[in-house]
Amino acid sequence: MSFNTLGLTDAIVRAVTEAGYTAPTPIQAQAIPAVIKGGDLLAGAQTGTGKTAGFTLPVLHRLSTDKVGAALTNKTSKRAIRALVLAPTRELAAQVEENIRTYAKYTNLNSAVIFGGVGIHPQIKLLANGVDILVATPGRLLDHVGQGTVKLDKVEILVLDEADRMLDMGFIHDIKKVLAVLPPKRQNLLFSATFSDEIKALADKLLDNPALIEVARRNSTVEVIAQTIHPVDRDKKHPMLAHLIKTNDWKQVLVFTRTKHGANKLVEQLAKDGIGAMAIHGNKSQSARTKALAEFKDGSLTALIATDIAARGIDIDQLPHVVNYDLPNVPEDYVHRIGRTGRAGATGEAVSLVCVDEHQMLKDIEKLIKQTLPREVIPGFEPDPTAKAQPIQLRSGAPGHTGRGGRPGGNGGGRAHGGGNGAGNGGGKPRSAAGTPSGGRSGSPAGNGGGGRGGQPGNRGGNGGGGNGGRPQNRGPRPASARSGSGER
Ligand code: AMP
Repeated sequence: MSFNTLGLTDAIVRAVTEAGYTAPTPIQAQAIPAVIKGGDLLAGAQTGTGKTAGFTLPVLHRLSTDKVGAALTNKTSKRAIRALVLAPTRELAAQVEENIRTYAKYTNLNSAVIFGGVGIHPQIKLLANGVDILVATPGRLLDHVGQGTVKLDKVEILVLDEADRMLDMGFIHDIKKVLAVLPPKRQNLLFSATFSDEIKALADKLLDNPALIEVARRNSTVEVIAQTIHPVDRDKKHPMLAHLIKTNDWKQVLVFTRTKHGANKLVEQLAKDGIGAMAIHGNKSQSARTKALAEFKDGSLTALIATDIAARGIDIDQLPHVVNYDLPNVPEDYVHRIGRTGRAGATGEAVSLVCVDEHQMLKDIEKLIKQTLPREVIPGFEPDPTAKAQPIQLRSGAPGHTGRGGRPGGNGGGRAHGGGNGAGNGGGKPRSAAGTPSGGRSGSPAGNGGGGRGGQPGNRGGNGGGGNGGRPQNRGPRPASARSGSGER
């Protein structure tokens, strides 16, 4: 199947072809015709499936072919926000908008992204200039609504991207407030990787007789990803990682650590080995995160060290290597982590460095994915068979932990203000330059500087990492997405 057969305009097909995509992914093949038809959509798809183009392309199609779109072409109409995309994190919002810009290249439509953690004034200017498609995190969007600096009365299409993450992060009230100011008659598209009862309730309220599309079973790990466990002693993880990077000549590796402190420490250790690495996590400023991501994306940085929350939404084409330096304490995060590689049909490799403390975590992961992962001992790094398990520290700065209780980083419920805010916009079209990524790299998330809020601990509104809460013999309260039951949809 080709993009030509899906009913998209030539301008859109041309941009997609230039982006190098020859065939639609399964979610695209199903979602594009459904959205073009005009009805609501409920789509079950994780990042890596091509879901962003799955909604972006038909939204562009609709907006450029309807009456208002035609008036825009003739420049007889002022721009108004006709499509609104809500996303949980600033990184995801920036990436979605970047995608829109790529695909809108040969249309007359423009786009902008707003998220928190950066100045609001450039965003106000940007919005005043006229925007067709707005991508936003809920918190900053509401700030603009409150100040009267954004008009949403012409919204025809609403997209909730990664709706499960938004709910996990405590955004439900913000979403409801946004819904209250949108025109009641509109097309609604809801994308979610998982379907908790909360998501179902939201979908029931929001969607009218939606088309249902589901790709990739929940919690199934992508088959093209080679997954290996390297058993190793707790204190040999760092030399093992350096060894793997050097002997395999890995050029671009995303490494997950459990804590922010662990990420920082690993950056220092790798630097001593001559391996370029930077950390991204909630304590880093937005500008530091943007810089690290940009250097990693353009290939000048070998290793990006990330915590789960910071890594959410990072979309890097065909990332070849993901390393679980520490196993995640929530098994579902394993699936999300390794979904960073092997995207949209590319092959990838995910390796996990597992010490004796993490054997239960590994068991939980294997149970979830219904696979026993192959173990491979690396010569020179044979683990000590007599080593005893020690409690795992789940949070930076927290005392040793028995591996029970709260999630790392969860610091009470409520609105996590997860996405920061920031202005951003694409070039090429008559748009304001406000918030253009510094240095003008098109690949970097928009927004500049800022206070590093958002994406902070508190994502998912978890209840407390302090060791209380959570179920005994288990590693803490699950995110809502994990509570929904059977593990299969
Ligand atoms: P997403 O699931 O939207 O995060 O998409 C993940 C990545 O898949 C994107 O960054 C693209 O690089 C890639 N992708 C999207 N659509 C296609 C396609 N039709 N063919 C190949 N790769 C694609």
